[in-house]
Amino acid sequence: MSLAELQSRTEQVLCRTYARYPMGVRSAKGSRIWDFDGREYVDLLAGIAVTGVGHCHPEINAAVSRQMEKLVHVSNLFYQEEQILLAEKILSTLHCSKAFFCNSGAEANEAAIKLARRYQRKIRGQERYEIITLTSCFHGRTLAALAATGQARLQDGFAPFPQGFRQVEAGNLAALKDALRPESAAIMLEVVQGEGGVRILDRDYLRAIAALCQEHGLLLIADEVQAGLGRSGRWWGFQHYGITPDIVTSAKALANGLPMGAMLCTEEAAKGFDFGSHATTFGGGALCSAAALATLEIMERDRLPERAASLGSWAKERFAATSARRPGKIREVRGLGLFLGIELAEPGREVWEELLRKGFILNLTQERVLRLLPALNIPEADLEAFAVALEECLGGK
Ligand SMILES: *Cc1c(COP(=O)(O)O)cnc(C)c1O
Repeated sequence: MSLAELQSRTEQVLCRTYARYPMGVRSAKGSRIWDFDGREYVDLLAGIAVTGVGHCHPEINAAVSRQMEKLVHVSNLFYQEEQILLAEKILSTLHCSKAFFCNSGAEANEAAIKLARRYQRKIRGQERYEIITLTSCFHGRTLAALAATGQARLQDGFAPFPQGFRQVEAGNLAALKDALRPESAAIMLEVVQGEGGVRILDRDYLRAIAALCQEHGLLLIADEVQAGLGRSGRWWGFQHYGITPDIVTSAKALANGLPMGAMLCTEEAAKGFDFGSHATTFGGGALCSAAALATLEIMERDRLPERAASLGSWAKERFAATSARRPGKIREVRGLGLFLGIELAEPGREVWEELLRKGFILNLTQERVLRLLPALNIPEADLEAFAVALEECLGGK
């Protein structure tokens, strides 16, 4: 199909929820994407931090094909070894000891919110239900996750929202202390705010939050849907800060493109759920579990968290050099591992379009932040080529 045909047929049959890039994708492999004219692009977005080990990874394809022949879905009414193997593997990467599998980031966060409330009531015997979140956060689009996200732009037209959410200014510890109430149940945050423009929370601030949670009996929920699974240069973003959240949520990269989310928690927090407390029909199905297990095995074997750390620091230096060569054009280069943001001095729509024309796929967030979320095994040469292209875009005009 031509782009024009894709566009008009999309307009006919799909809800108008997405302002799409002017590009149709026909196929993808590793860190390359091809459009319908056969044009090749370097993919620095990885399906929004999803295809962490690259598109159509042969080992994941093989694992999925094998699983397709064996078992796809029977529901969580039965014991299945695929989800146990996955749970054991993912729990080996952090301090948590229980997992609940679901299908998306929003659903993982919903599970976290429900668990925090029920734990406070049933285990601690306290009427605590309020979830505190930070400004410019993003926790998903379902109603409760959107109440947690709290941005007028995203909430427009959808009120009323579930009660029991309060938002405080990110980075402001005094505001957080002021916001604490007898009904405060948990603080939910992203250590790197992805949609918020790749904003990295300050180390002392985060450690103070963890201490505050301890002191006042709140649970700490780390939304690692975007930062988790190696992207930050460690398995989990919070592991850079020496804190141990009670609940950790995951999704995006978990099954390298198949829908899969997880809510991970400590043994203590897990007491908040009982038989029948929470459920999902598809969550942790055999097929997606097999894909996720294969994904984690590849990440572990190929040391992709370590690679994200080293390639990420190289990229930050490289982009800093770009910034030095184009004075006044780049306000800041920041990131953790391969979770990278280049904040431009001016709104970046034109630069973003020019980069797409040059064959580089990335994301523009908060109007001026070029966000890069490449596969963790992307060749260094692709990032170098991007830096050169960016210099051209910021230079000549
Ligand atoms: C993408 C994202 C979500 C929502 O995930 P979905 O799978 O789209 O529901 C939640 N939290 C963070 C930090 C995210 O980046």
